[in-house]
Amino acid sequence: MTDKVSAKIVILLGPPGAGKGTQAALVSKSLGIPHISTGDIMRAAIKENSELGIKVKKYLDDGVLVPDALVTDVIKERISRQDCDKGFLLDGFPRTGEQALQLNTLLAKMGCGAAKVVDISVPEQVLIDRIKKRGEQGSGRSDDNAEMAAKRLQVYRNETAPLTDFYKKAGNLREVDGLGTVEQVNERILSAIS
Ligand code: AMP
Repeated sequence: MTDKVSAKIVILLGPPGAGKGTQAALVSKSLGIPHISTGDIMRAAIKENSELGIKVKKYLDDGVLVPDALVTDVIKERISRQDCDKGFLLDGFPRTGEQALQLNTLLAKMGCGAAKVVDISVPEQVLIDRIKKRGEQGSGRSDDNAEMAAKRLQVYRNETAPLTDFYKKAGNLREVDGLGTVEQVNERILSAIS
């Protein structure tokens, strides 16, 4: 296996509606590394009606998390592809303590250095308004409506928010203010990981 100690590995954390997807696309482009979104991978699988898609559809429709083993397998396969040799950006993974531990193990096995973890923080009411707007503008996502927004935020608070402490303790966390224009937030992220 190639030694990836100098690979650029970025993890974007942040609640639904924080602008993770938009920022992930911009940051991965700036750094020249693939943008890996577990949500996008699973939505594509559902569209294709693949084996993975059939297994995960009910979770996405309900706004709850897909079981750790399933999503970890998806990531394991994706980050072992050659286009990830120089690094990659993870958007929407890890989302639980178990996924974070599994990722650490995978990165260690691949000979990668520590990931740079960015937490995009945005006040809750702003998040709810943004998700509702996204649904009204026809995002095409079955989970972009007020009820689902509240549920996905609850899941985030319970399962994913504790990861910020996990990465803070490991000394890998960079906190970035997610309020402002797309360009402003993007500049903050780029300087936080430079
Ligand atoms: P996202 O596009 O990142 O908001 O993800 C949409 C949905 O996909 C989530 O509500 C979950 O059902 C599922 N999902 C995405 N990433 C993960 C993950 N890392 N662990 C479990 N479920 C996930």
